[in-house]
Amino acid sequence: MSATTGKVLQDVQDERDRQDAKWGDQSMSYDGTGASVRPLREMGPIYSGTPAFQLAYRATNQTDVESRHGGASMASILLEEVFEALAESDAIKLRTELVQVAAVAVAWCEYIDRRGALPVPMGGGSR
Ligand SMILES: [Mg+2]
Repeated sequence: MSATTGKVLQDVQDERDRQDAKWGDQSMSYDGTGASVRPLREMGPIYSGTPAFQLAYRATNQTDVESRHGGASMASILLEEVFEALAESDAIKLRTELVQVAAVAVAWCEYIDRRGALPVPMGGGSR
């Protein structure tokens, strides 16, 4: 593991500790995932009826288009992984997708750090 990965993973661990302290054990929360789940249902008429599997397909298409035109943005890559996770109803496959979401988020943090951006002090109570 690189030093930058280790730092980001420590930040993730610290945030997890803060989440647990703030919210307590949330392990009984329902997953709310599956191909027909409409994750953007509260976001207005354009996207509210779009099922997760279509969002995953569209996000993958967006990433593919960007890749063919100079490279995919981290935002598009993360959204693709998030929508893929939301489209899963099988717990094992969902877990695999969530690891991919976490890995992309960690990589994105590393890239920001490598650009020389100063990390924002953690502990803002985000979730
Ligand atoms: Mg994936």
